[in-house]
Amino acid sequence: MTTKNNSKKSIDEYKVIYRKKELSEKKKKEILKKLCDILGSENVSDKEIDKISYSKDYWPIALRWMLEGKIPALPDYIVWPENTKHISDVIKLANEEEIPIIPFGEGSGVMGGAIPIKGGIVVDMKKMNKTLEINKKNLTITVQTGINGMNLERTLNKEGYTFGHNPQSLYCSTLGGWLACRAAGQFSTKYGKIDDMVISLEAVLPQGEIIRSKNVPKSSTGPRTDKLLLGSEGTLGIITESTLKIWPYPEKRTLQSYAFEDLKDGLESIRKILRKGIFPAVIRLYDKIETARHFYQTKKAKGKYMLILVMEGDKELVDLEERVSHEICEEHGGIKCGEEPVLHWFDTRFNVKEASEFAPRDVIFDTIEVSVNWDKSVELYNSMIFSMKNIEGVILASAHASHFYPQGVCFYFTFGGTPVKNIAPNDLYKSVWNAAMRSCIDAGGSISHHHGIGIMRASWIEKELGQSFEVLKRIKKTLDPKNIMNPGKMGL
Ligand SMILES: Cc1cc2nc3c(=O)[nH]c(=O)nc-3n(C[C@H](O)[C@H](O)[C@H](O)COP(=O)(O)OP(=O)(O)OC[C@H]3O[C@@H](n4cnc5c(N)ncnc54)[C@H](O)[C@@H]3O)c2cc1C
Repeated sequence: MTTKNNSKKSIDEYKVIYRKKELSEKKKKEILKKLCDILGSENVSDKEIDKISYSKDYWPIALRWMLEGKIPALPDYIVWPENTKHISDVIKLANEEEIPIIPFGEGSGVMGGAIPIKGGIVVDMKKMNKTLEINKKNLTITVQTGINGMNLERTLNKEGYTFGHNPQSLYCSTLGGWLACRAAGQFSTKYGKIDDMVISLEAVLPQGEIIRSKNVPKSSTGPRTDKLLLGSEGTLGIITESTLKIWPYPEKRTLQSYAFEDLKDGLESIRKILRKGIFPAVIRLYDKIETARHFYQTKKAKGKYMLILVMEGDKELVDLEERVSHEICEEHGGIKCGEEPVLHWFDTRFNVKEASEFAPRDVIFDTIEVSVNWDKSVELYNSMIFSMKNIEGVILASAHASHFYPQGVCFYFTFGGTPVKNIAPNDLYKSVWNAAMRSCIDAGGSISHHHGIGIMRASWIEKELGQSFEVLKRIKKTLDPKNIMNPGKMGL
């Protein structure tokens, strides 16, 4: 970063949003030396450039702060562990020194979860990216959690298998981040969400203890403590290794699309398909606004709700699933639109340039994913769209449904707007989020389907979890009495 006269600006000249208590120079040097002793100096940094790089994740508010020349938060050190012992030793040191640990995958989280708001040691997991075993008989893969998503999928594809977890952030996120946020991929209706795919895991708890669950398909040996780590967003430990389910690479894939007059008809078709025991890999139902935005080339879909379906797997089963789904969609008035819209979706599914294009123009833009049962689904859709549109400055509120269960659905809302009456963009942004969260809870939904809580949703978690939030706080206090693991996240 440079000023107008091209002289370098030091970090101290920038406004740091979450200003933390500084360590003394003596302490800084002492901890640096101890970290180098544990990890080797090549795996430790306290350089300014690295601190700035690890000062944010993909939370849109943090992105805007950066554009305004503000730094969200600075860590004191960044470390790149190469094994589980490194992590355990670093966590023990952090306990002794009472400084925070912030696990870091690839920083694609959109809730601010990886921002080091109280400084401390960012533990970047990227060097822990090894595939330890592909067991073709058991249909499992065992990997270290720093592995990049696309590399994991490619490793399996080469062997004739798939993991089936394809989030839109596939190229820029890690297995550890997925597990820590309970992520969902685009093919989730068939293959499950990341939490469904886990067989066992290894993790380092907040005082440095290492736990490892058994690699067996199921056991009945008390509550599963390892599962506490799923969705814990780095607040209860660092997940270091996992054994996960895999699938043979699909023999056949079919693409179908239908346009519906009404949201209800589209949802009803999907519900009926799932009731038959058919789980298409991809199901996406777009409202009118999103149909117009994504499928403007499909004339038959004009002014309608577009549904796309991808079936994949064994040829005979896929043929049957395609035929039955077709019958159900036609029964509900679906107009067949062919393969073209699905091919278009495949071509554009990793296209995410909007957020970075709009922010510099003072246009706010974000997405909100929630889940709800079938019997409340239409009501929730309508009330969330209404509540967002009702905020002055909001120009657009739309949604598609993209993850499905026999019991219900995940809606993925998009909103955009420009601030009016001197309201700061981030304040408009927060107002829309609060309106959306309130109406989601009122309509009986869950405030997050797969992005997690981080900072953005922290003020809503108590309302969402009720008494269970008290339990979570007690667990956190017991496991992490010095509150060193990713402090200030998830409302903890
Ligand atoms: C363009 C875009 C598209 C996206 N699409 C999807 C999508 O389709 N589906 C979806 O679910 N999400 C999606 N996301 C959100 C994001 O990719 C996920 O939340 C992902 O799980 C974060 O992974 P990461 O490795 O980047 O984690 P980070 O952002 O680095 O970290 C996220 C959180 O997990 C913690 N963490 C990271 N690694 C570990 C570990 N090993 N142990 C313990 N805690 C850890 C961090 O401390 C932080 O709290 C998208 C994001 C972007 C920017």
